[in-house]
Amino acid sequence: MHYIAQLYNSQLEILKKQVEPIKLRGYDYTTKVKDELVNVKLAVNAIAYNPCITNRDLYLEKIKGLNNPMNWERYAGKVIDSTYKIVHKKCEEYIMNEEQNTNNLSKFLSRNQNQIINNVLLTHAGDLKRIVPKPSNTQINDLKVIFKKIVNSEADIASSIINFELSKTRDANIKGIFDEYLNFNTNLVLKGPGLGFGEKSTPDFIYKHEVIGDIKTGVWQDFFSLTAVAYALAYEEHTNRDMNFGVILHVEFPQTKRIPIYTRSKIEFLDNRLRDRFLAIRDRKLQILYYKNDPGKPPEKTMCNKNCYYFSSQCWTKQ
Ligand code: SF4
Repeated sequence: MHYIAQLYNSQLEILKKQVEPIKLRGYDYTTKVKDELVNVKLAVNAIAYNPCITNRDLYLEKIKGLNNPMNWERYAGKVIDSTYKIVHKKCEEYIMNEEQNTNNLSKFLSRNQNQIINNVLLTHAGDLKRIVPKPSNTQINDLKVIFKKIVNSEADIASSIINFELSKTRDANIKGIFDEYLNFNTNLVLKGPGLGFGEKSTPDFIYKHEVIGDIKTGVWQDFFSLTAVAYALAYEEHTNRDMNFGVILHVEFPQTKRIPIYTRSKIEFLDNRLRDRFLAIRDRKLQILYYKNDPGKPPEKTMCNKNCYYFSSQCWTKQ
């Protein structure tokens, strides 16, 4: 997540020059759901997660009750999200709660590494029990290696930002630098009744009140960017303030690297085109839930997304 702080400095000033007037703001009547659909709600993630061109996955899950059980990939995604947030909190705790004259974040986090890993595993113990099929010891051990990569690289990036800023002036203080350059809010709960979202929307982070973001793992999907737009609209409805930028922190863990990589992650200006695309998908999905009509399959199975949970059997053979 601290990668975003570095990305921001290199990318955002250029992006700010590309800002155009936005017609579709979450606080505006143009984005509200139609009257007939006001009582239909769907979580932001369920709207933005859009692997199927007809949205039949939503119909199978919500209307036919063919649930998508917890699997290893989803579990790993959840625990990786939590690890980033807990590591950031630990960094904040170290910087804010102690009288620091020097920046020893890396040492502090390495000392607390096992505690962080245990906290994350404990938080998701219930999810672990629900995984089908049961994970192997190799999978669990691989995940622990991933935890260590996250802890080390988050500490390294934060330390490098802090040290760079400290070295610029005699008067700089670590707390002020952390507040300025590592200002992530990871606890935001957005409520708003008008956009058709569930009761609460919880983006993974907002950086400097300017960039709203979500952490994603697994194979990159083009629809991932919709999640940032969705949260931006929810933020605008909840706060009545503009949110112009979004980012998907897409994280990969190649075995050959000791750090995570983020080759797909870019801060994007959330323009009218992206907002319009997301709102059209939202309307289509809420209509499926309201009318309970089967949207059908595409003409050919080859048009299906092979990462769709229903691809292997349930959609093409049983329904
Ligand atoms: S298998 Fe194909 S049609 Fe069925 S839900 Fe998945 S993507 Fe849609």
